[in-house]
Amino acid sequence: MRMSQLFVRTLRDDPNDAEVPSHRLLVRAGYIRRAAPGIYTWLPLGLKVYRNVERIVREEMDAMGAQELQFPALLPKEPYEATNRWEEYGDGIFRVQDRKGADYLLGPTHEEMFTLVVKDLYSSYKDLPVWLYQIQTKYRDEARPRAGLMRGREFVMKDSYSFDVSDEGLDASYNAHRAAYIKTFDRLGFDYVIVKATAGAMGGSKSEEFLAKLDVGEDTFVQCAACDYAANVEAVTVPAPPAQPYDDVPAAHAEETPDTPTIDSLVALLNERYPRDDRPWAAGDTLKNVLVMLKHPDGTKEPLAIGIPGDRDVDQKRLEGQLEPIEVEPMTEEELRSFPDIVKGYIGPGVLGEEKTGIRFVVDPRIVEGTRWVTGADVHNQHAIDMVVGRDFTPDGTIEAANVRDGDACPNCAEGTLASARGIEMGHIFQLGRKYAEALDLKVLDENGKLVTVTMGSYGIGVSRAVPVIAEGNHDELGLCWPREIAPADVHIVAAGKDAALFEAAEKLSGELAAQGIEVIYDDRAGKISPGVKFKDAELIGVPTIVTVGRGLADGVVEVKDRRTGAKQDVAVAEAAAAIAAIIRG
Ligand code: ATP
Ligand code: MG
Repeated sequence: MRMSQLFVRTLRDDPNDAEVPSHRLLVRAGYIRRAAPGIYTWLPLGLKVYRNVERIVREEMDAMGAQELQFPALLPKEPYEATNRWEEYGDGIFRVQDRKGADYLLGPTHEEMFTLVVKDLYSSYKDLPVWLYQIQTKYRDEARPRAGLMRGREFVMKDSYSFDVSDEGLDASYNAHRAAYIKTFDRLGFDYVIVKATAGAMGGSKSEEFLAKLDVGEDTFVQCAACDYAANVEAVTVPAPPAQPYDDVPAAHAEETPDTPTIDSLVALLNERYPRDDRPWAAGDTLKNVLVMLKHPDGTKEPLAIGIPGDRDVDQKRLEGQLEPIEVEPMTEEELRSFPDIVKGYIGPGVLGEEKTGIRFVVDPRIVEGTRWVTGADVHNQHAIDMVVGRDFTPDGTIEAANVRDGDACPNCAEGTLASARGIEMGHIFQLGRKYAEALDLKVLDENGKLVTVTMGSYGIGVSRAVPVIAEGNHDELGLCWPREIAPADVHIVAAGKDAALFEAAEKLSGELAAQGIEVIYDDRAGKISPGVKFKDAELIGVPTIVTVGRGLADGVVEVKDRRTGAKQDVAVAEAAAAIAAIIRG
């Protein structure tokens, strides 16, 4: 690759739509260009990096024994109707029509197609297990495309699927994928954590995510300080405490609580006017009831009341994670008015519940039988005190919607507490079970000649997302610093000066390295391009080894620099090719 001819224009300034470093640098260094919101073009350097990632993913999938195939991206509607996902995906997919008006979609993920192809070709337990994968472009009309390739509307995913007859077989397939993912992500070279996940729109049971640990990520995960528990915050399940005795709790009573718009003001007033005998009231003694509207995939709406301790908030992502594919919207004033019994600001269990207003009332798992709460009295300016669960009200069920806080007890061990950090999902493995096989009628004959439904696993890797994720962990103030296996080239040679002899030497060195199969970017630009500009470009582009053929040539040496550490050494011109090859081969 000669810089004089390479299709690249580096930029001095950050693009103004880029919020995260990887996005800024990939655009500035000439790896990608935006084509439309969440849709990007790979330029030559970017394509090289992308292909390196793809190659690593493919090698590890092949090594585990999975077989590659490729489906179209343009898919018929019918299989997605059979699994109900045509509807469940809502606005999340791109739908198109052909000239006859028939519906198609651009595949957001391919469970249906894989299930059908196995059904098409296989019929016996002897054919199983089989592991199939593809590396392919997916389309999702993300509500908030962001951070360049990190959350695109067009992106590349490696998706694989396992097909087994037995549950034990599925476990083995799942574990094989887990092991292959560890190898893949170790090679790709970013910091990650494996966390417990919710299964999301796909249903199924056992599910883990591989999150790249990044502050710019949209996922929050928690880890226990004492045990190996790690979970996406969406998947944290709060252990319900045991039921509590309440014989001593006084009968519930409604009291005047004017001017208490916030939990803090309510607690202050309680302590002033209605003090407890044992200790002061705290925010966690209050029960706050939040009303939302659920929007089902078919468009119908339904109200839901969520009760959580007053010292916590509803975590929208946790709530949505529980309810997917149902969407959650705040209740509008107008919707609220259709429930005349509801008194805004003083909503309590007195009116909530399927038996009462018909609004389903679900509560945080900590709100167990015998616990005692201060909550809305369903009368303006009044709260109900000493409301005991099981005595004064009974919720319709529980829901994991309250925010998880640093310091919360670990759900897995007795001693530890949780601490949170941010990440972004790079891979997801989950046991789908028989949901898709049932919906699409994928059965095989077992040993006894009986038809049995196949059980499946589904496993994804964000191949295009890996490029910005790796870039996030491998850059400095000057530009990108790619790991060697990912870099667009092995060495970046800069001819720094005007002298013809210098260009000749650089040209010769490039040729010698290229002859050994080493990928070279050679900055052969002559004329007005100063050495300073060339060095800046080399640092920005981020190839791991930068070689300067410049002033030193008069003394018979070239300079070899490690992009990441900045360490420099002079090497005799005659030995330069061999020495650089040795560095590159480690
Ligand atoms: P996320 O939680 O980030 O939205 P997801 O749960 O929707 O991801 P899956 O359906 O499990 O993702 O897809 C498998 C992998 O594809 C993800 O682990 C992620 O690496 C990648 N991926 C998903 N959505 C996108 C996107 N919009 N842009 C780039 N990569 C994506
Ligand atoms: Mg996922």
